[in-house]
Amino acid sequence: VKENGKNHYALFAPEMDPIAMQKLTIQHELRRALHNEEFRLHYQPQYDLASGQIVGLEALIRWQHPERGLVSPGEFIPAAEESGMIVPLGDWVIEEACRQNKQWQLAGLPRIPVSVNLSFRQFSHKNLKGKVAEVLAQTELEARFLELEITESMTMDVDRASLSLKELTDLGVNISIDDFGTGYSSFHYLKKLPIARLKIDRSFVRDIQQDPNDAAIVAAIIAMAHNLQLQVIAEGVETEDQVHFLRLHRCDEMQGYFGSPPLDSERAGRLLEQHLNR
Ligand code: C2E
Ligand code: CA
Ligand code: CA
Ligand code: CA
Repeated sequence: VKENGKNHYALFAPEMDPIAMQKLTIQHELRRALHNEEFRLHYQPQYDLASGQIVGLEALIRWQHPERGLVSPGEFIPAAEESGMIVPLGDWVIEEACRQNKQWQLAGLPRIPVSVNLSFRQFSHKNLKGKVAEVLAQTELEARFLELEITESMTMDVDRASLSLKELTDLGVNISIDDFGTGYSSFHYLKKLPIARLKIDRSFVRDIQQDPNDAAIVAAIIAMAHNLQLQVIAEGVETEDQVHFLRLHRCDEMQGYFGSPPLDSERAGRLLEQHLNR
């Protein structure tokens, strides 16, 4: 390791192993991008299946990279998770989603919740509640217009998850379980946790028409959710036939390309406006 002044060592010493070095580079890149405001949120509408109304928006992050163009979250969220950069990045997502939602509300657009994806590290972070409270106070967004999405794997330690979630729901935000059906599934925790809705993973929705097993699973999730007084939304809805099936089984809401792909904030705002005037 190269000595560089008294107690300082150069980060990119040639003898450092390449994987560790690559990680440092990614971390540095993400920090730089956050500082340079290269991240964007796109918003995908969620529709009420009975009325066709837009009842929510999911915020999905993108990286507007100066050379690589628009980079999707699958390409940098894992690195952000691993490097810990997901915490400041996730904080930015919460801030931006709340700010944008409040701005739409002030412009007279429909008052609907925006959903934000939480990563495991963010969820385990001791100051999540403080951060959420701070953002709500700063943006003056009512807590009921923010929803936080967690995945089943974050609820493995049900007692701990229950406490963390309770802190959040005490603020007035709603919690939903994302990608439902793909993770650790215990019906026990569904009763124990203060959650408002389930999002049926798109892998079950995709083949609803062709695969009787998937059809049975989706129908069962909807029925179970309703018995537990939870709302249920189907993800990845792409066809009219899927919509038909979901309506038949009284699913509450849908999200997917059939309704709309994720839209940049300008387009999402225009869609909300058209929706208001229809
Ligand atoms: P997700 O939370 O399950 O988000 C839904 C993904 O499905 C989005 O991909 C969306 O563009 C895509 N999608 C929506 N409708 C359809 C459809 O009809 N068909 C198909 N094939 N795909 C559809 P995206 O935006 O690339 O996000 C991928 C994942 O990255 C998300 O999955 C989420 O886990 C993660 N992610 C996105 N934004 C954030 C964020 O701000 N924070 C964290 N921690 N994770 C995020
Ligand atoms: Ca999600
Ligand atoms: Ca999902
Ligand atoms: Ca996912």
